[in-house]
Amino acid sequence: MNSPITLALSKGRIFDETLPLLAAAGIEVAEDPEKSRKLILATSRPEVRVVLVRASDVPTYVEQGGADLGVAGLDILLEHGSAGLYQPLDLGIARCRMSVATRADFDYVAAVQQGSRIRVATKYTQIARQHFADKGVHVDLIKLYGSMELAPLTGLADAIVDLVSTGSTLRANHLVEVERILDVSSRLVVNQAALKLKRETIRGLIDAFAQACTKTT
Ligand code: ATP
Ligand code: MG
Repeated sequence: MNSPITLALSKGRIFDETLPLLAAAGIEVAEDPEKSRKLILATSRPEVRVVLVRASDVPTYVEQGGADLGVAGLDILLEHGSAGLYQPLDLGIARCRMSVATRADFDYVAAVQQGSRIRVATKYTQIARQHFADKGVHVDLIKLYGSMELAPLTGLADAIVDLVSTGSTLRANHLVEVERILDVSSRLVVNQAALKLKRETIRGLIDAFAQACTKTT
């Protein structure tokens, strides 16, 4: 009997885009999280179960051993810090980018050149702090938990740092992307103790995921 394995996923795009990778590893999830309120889902492999957590809680679960492995966006991993996590694989799923956006009538380039202090609203304060420090730009960071687009429209901030994929949310709110910070995709993260104790099962999963994502990307 293989060791029991717990995989932490967040509902939505990460769950949806991880399903084909699981299928490639011979794992079907028994239930649809959108139709059930269960937080622990059995799979077709008796030793593998999925736990559903908030995207930003995946690193904590995996680091502390609440799950053996998980899938998390690079944005989440950079914000959380991932020193305690083994990251064997970029799965290439949930792709987007982290960008700076402003109102169309805000001259970001001029503000940077003039060395003005820029008020930046974001959920991603670590990534933003690092980015502007690297550029030598002075910023006042304003921590928000959602609807970042509203901040420049209400005068709360000059700019936002947020995830962008198609840009349609920015466009709908008359914001423009003025700088790309980094490309984001989701990574497989593994608890370091689990990797040692359940090496065979976890290695098997990593290899199956690796094969599946080279096929699809
Ligand atoms: P919640 O929506 O519950 O507040 P969340 O926004 O962190 O949490 P998701 O929206 O499911 O959760 O995003 C999960 C991950 O998917 C993000 O951490 C990021 O890596 C990626 N992601 C976010 N938005 C997009 C997008 N528009 N396109 C592609 N990938 C995205
Ligand atoms: Mg979201």
